[in-house]
Amino acid sequence: MSEEINDQEMTQEAYDLDEETLFVVSQTFKALSDPTRIRILHLLSCKSHSVNEIAEQLDLRQSTVSHQLRFLKNLRLVKFRREGTTLYYTPDDQHVMDMLNQMIEHACHN
Ligand SMILES: [Zn+2]
Repeated sequence: MSEEINDQEMTQEAYDLDEETLFVVSQTFKALSDPTRIRILHLLSCKSHSVNEIAEQLDLRQSTVSHQLRFLKNLRLVKFRREGTTLYYTPDDQHVMDMLNQMIEHACHN
């Protein structure tokens, strides 16, 4: 599957990105550059999970999951809701989840 880059996009006037945008974009790519974080986000894309559930499902230590969720939360890529004493995590940004899905499709096509 390949898509032509359309001419209209190519003729748009070029402009530089501001520093904050560059920072956020590069941090987001960094977030997506780690296999464990990719697995966690992919798992959460189907349904919300607690730290325990993520750890069990992906065969990871709870401390590893907590650490990675904190990283993702700081970038506002995941959010949680509280149920009793348990926190359930879900993705917090559709752009990034769309991007991740695109990347997964990219990895699977030939
Ligand atoms: Zn592709």
